[in-house]
Amino acid sequence: MLLEQERKKVIEIALTIQRLKLIPLTFGNFSLRDPETAYICITPSGMPYETLHPSDIVVVDENNQIVDGERRPSIELPMHTAIYRKRKDVNGIVHTHSTFCTAWACRDIEGMPCITSEAADLVGGQVKLARFCMPGSSELAEVTSDALGDKDKAVLMGNHGAICVDDNIDKALKDAIVLEESAKVAYYAFQMGNVNILEDQVAEFMRKDTEKNYGQQ
Ligand code: 13P
Ligand code: ZN
Repeated sequence: MLLEQERKKVIEIALTIQRLKLIPLTFGNFSLRDPETAYICITPSGMPYETLHPSDIVVVDENNQIVDGERRPSIELPMHTAIYRKRKDVNGIVHTHSTFCTAWACRDIEGMPCITSEAADLVGGQVKLARFCMPGSSELAEVTSDALGDKDKAVLMGNHGAICVDDNIDKALKDAIVLEESAKVAYYAFQMGNVNILEDQVAEFMRKDTEKNYGQQ
């Protein structure tokens, strides 16, 4: 089977996201790009994750052409491929409808204010909110991929959910966990009263510092 290990990896990510309760039912989609072939492995549309077999994961090229697989790919395939076309540094994408991110995405604001160091590490400032577009539309693909710009790892999708991108799908999953926790903390902090919002300059400094100094070499 073409890219069997990579297809298994996408299923593993879907099951982990389900276990962590980052999505209700199958409201989300996940993909990775194989750096060697540049083919993309993406979840099928609307199939319960616990039933997925590697052959259910659809293999496509960056122009949405199916290379292998019988299933209909996620309706958000155009969004995934638009991101892969624009961001050569991205090889993994995780789109969720996680509760606190989605709540922030339903607010009439420019973005989620940056108040924690973990959020600062993702985008170096507020997490942008891309305007509402119809799910599955080419407009949503355009608007979301534009909002990510050339370095952000996360964007909120208006009245819809969130998307995280990174250089592999494991990292994109971690980003999605961090983003949801940040959205939860921000929700509680604003309930509690006045909030100290980190300035963009400080957040960007923290992002660069973490990139350089956090963890093992
Ligand atoms: P799919 O099941 O087609 O991936 O759709 C879920 C979703 O999140 C649409 O935005
Ligand atoms: Zn969605």
